Amino acid sequence: MDLPVKQIQPQNIEQWLPARHKPLLISGPCSAESREQVLTTAAQLQATGLVSAFRAGVWKPRTRPSSFEGHGKTALEWLKEVKETYGFPLAVEVATPAHVEACLEAGIDILWVGARTSVNPFSVQELAEALRGVDIPVMVKNPLNPDLALWMGVLERFYMSGITKLAAIHRGFNTYEKSRFRNEPLWNIPIELKSSFPELPLICDPSHIAGKRNLIAEVARQALLLDMNGLMIESHHMPSEALTDAAQQLKPVDLQTIFSKLTVPESAEDNPCFELEILRKRIDEFDNQLIGILSKRMHVVEEIARLKSDCKMTILQVRRWNTIIRTRMEMGKEKGLDEKFLKNLLDLIHKESIDLQSRIMK
Ligand code: PEP
Ligand code: MN
Repeated sequence: MDLPVKQIQPQNIEQWLPARHKPLLISGPCSAESREQVLTTAAQLQATGLVSAFRAGVWKPRTRPSSFEGHGKTALEWLKEVKETYGFPLAVEVATPAHVEACLEAGIDILWVGARTSVNPFSVQELAEALRGVDIPVMVKNPLNPDLALWMGVLERFYMSGITKLAAIHRGFNTYEKSRFRNEPLWNIPIELKSSFPELPLICDPSHIAGKRNLIAEVARQALLLDMNGLMIESHHMPSEALTDAAQQLKPVDLQTIFSKLTVPESAEDNPCFELEILRKRIDEFDNQLIGILSKRMHVVEEIARLKSDCKMTILQVRRWNTIIRTRMEMGKEKGLDEKFLKNLLDLIHKESIDLQSRIMK
């Protein structure tokens, strides 16, 4: 897939959001609930010395219409006070051109697009049009569903409107899998985004991935190990009283505890390390062997297909396949391979084998 998103040249995040502390942290409540709440939370965040920007939801996208939907423009006035008092740059979620207009008027510094808006190209295009010619940073949360191209499309739409201060926010994905997390991290998706587009700043939102306070540290640590550029974590001076996302917000002092144990690993790219190079050479060699073996296996599949065709046999022979799965899973267990990983790999190989036989036997 050759997506034009590869042409995006976003600005380095340090140029528009310098980190006051490493790792870069954007924090603040899920929703701005009252003047007192935002000012007290901001004061406590200021005391931690960790925070580079203050976030708050002002218009809240809620599942049910009777829920608290934010205080809108009134809340923007409270946020202005946060900025005047504590000097934090302000980040607010926008979902409509009217939100954009209100934020620009209020002097909001950074806009972000939420996961429920990222799924809709019409809404995104309207936002992008509203921002044409405006020099403001935009952070794009991944869409609710695990669709990398859709996420890239949102980034592209803003870039094509002239936004160069761009970042992506990984906040996890809605899946029907049973999980410890509120939203599955599916780390391979942000990794793919990063590898197709290494210059794009990528921020992790452990709050919305975790959904619970006690999982936030674990998710944050993993994000840093994957070389992400910063974290967005929700905080509230009284989390249990929060009107939205009460289970996942942290008291600023708890944020401090988490950060005291969080180290920023050095990027393996900029850190030449002899041992690492040796291990990588071994990986290169094993991959070479793996691909060679897969190719040989497929050649045998081709011969089998011809034979089955001559003997007028079916491609699929369930008993044989079940035996393969059972014996290979036993082998894998002996060798200490993860069960789910091996089953996925075998299924993938089997699918390719059936596709190949089908092409030949046609
Ligand atoms: C939020 O940041 O409070 C929010 C609504 O997030 P998301 O769009 O990731 O659900
Ligand atoms: Mn939230």
